Amino acid sequence: PEAAAQIAALIRTIPDFPKPGIQFRDITTLLLDPAGLRLSVETMAAAVEGPIDLVAGIEARGFVFAPALALALGAGVLLIRKDGKLPGATIAEDYALEYGTDRIAMHADACAPGARVLLVDDLIATGGTARAAVRLIRKAGAIVQQAAFVVDLPDLGGAHALAEDGVRVHSLVA
Ligand code: 5GP
Repeated sequence: PEAAAQIAALIRTIPDFPKPGIQFRDITTLLLDPAGLRLSVETMAAAVEGPIDLVAGIEARGFVFAPALALALGAGVLLIRKDGKLPGATIAEDYALEYGTDRIAMHADACAPGARVLLVDDLIATGGTARAAVRLIRKAGAIVQQAAFVVDLPDLGGAHALAEDGVRVHSLVA
């Protein structure tokens, strides 16, 4: 509650980005603030239940939070990237956009079977990105039961959909 208000006050809204009518929640201002950054990482880490082997960050803003959380949790970092960026053999997953589809990928040998993975991104909206990441990590044989986000936009239903996929959602600000 108090932490949420402090974090929310450090996130700014940019109107009409990346296109007209979109209110973009900009977390770069939160990252610039030492106390806000620390509070965000510590609050997310405290919400996580049980041991975690890997923190999976989604490109690009999930990459900012994943290593900080991994250090706090004693876990490693798994990179979920846009397709075509990773050098080794990959597995991929497609997800629907408003117009067309997009594809995310991870190294096929990145996680041991049964590894306990925490998914992290800056924001969940429709959940399309996070749900594809969960499918991808599960396809690799790992276990994904929790996900952490700085911002949840609950009206867009992503957190609800993720919960129906069997993932506990931790978010700092709604
Ligand atoms: P979703 O797939 O849940 O609809 O969209 C979430 C993805 O898009 C995340 O990877 C997130 O970084 C990005 N995203 C969508 N809208 C926003 C926004 O308003 N602010 C930020 N920071 N990221 C957004």
